[in-house]
Amino acid sequence: MISFDVFKDGKRNALTMSYDDGTIYDIKLIEIFNKHGIKSTFHLNSGRFGVGRNISEKDIADLYKNHEISVHGVLHKSLAKLPLQNIIPEIFEDRKNLEKICGYPVRGMSFANGSYNKGVISALKFCGIEYARTTKATKAFELPEDFLEWHPTCHHNDAVEMGRKFLEQKRRQGKLLYVWGHSYEFNDNNNWDLIEEFCRMFAKEDDIWFATNIEIYDYITAQRNLKISADNSIVYNPSCQAVWFTVEGEIFKINGGETLHL
Ligand SMILES: [Zn+2]
Repeated sequence: MISFDVFKDGKRNALTMSYDDGTIYDIKLIEIFNKHGIKSTFHLNSGRFGVGRNISEKDIADLYKNHEISVHGVLHKSLAKLPLQNIIPEIFEDRKNLEKICGYPVRGMSFANGSYNKGVISALKFCGIEYARTTKATKAFELPEDFLEWHPTCHHNDAVEMGRKFLEQKRRQGKLLYVWGHSYEFNDNNNWDLIEEFCRMFAKEDDIWFATNIEIYDYITAQRNLKISADNSIVYNPSCQAVWFTVEGEIFKINGGETLHL
């Protein structure tokens, strides 16, 4: 039986990081991530560049180039509190502003102040947003059913503890550890050692895929979109990226556009 329980390159599990608000402390955080090969997504407020502790617009493209830039609302508004007509500009204009800087389609976001409701989620679809991260920690390692309501595993304060649990369970395949936070918290709480320890713990793991939020989204979407014959013997991959899956524990790779006879 075919099982969607492996990630890119047949890696058993995945780790993704998600950081909000785009403050100057992202500089140090990215140094730590880069040193250990960890990938992250950074959710930015384009209407607040250069304000207070926020990164200046001229520094954005270079700073985040190995990671993903994503929407967090032009002005960090709590979306569930806005009149419906004001939700779309808050998201859509942020997308436009960020795309001008980074040069690729920006398709993800995180909810400012964790604020959303059903009306907000329906508005995302009109804005070209494909995933949206909440602040509701699941303390679990499951992939989301609906990427427009993507609950993370935990805030980074619990990352070391949840990271240990994740590594203990890593023989279970297809699991995702998703950690979120703000880099200014490491400065304000003087606990940079927490994220250093976490990254050191994972850097030596070679069976875990380190990915940005959108890389996870794109990969899982391609995997879920594989076309499989009724008797499970033929698999077609209509996407443009390679996908891995297992059959009775054996790992198979199918390239984009390929049909595989098992
Ligand atoms: Zn925020």
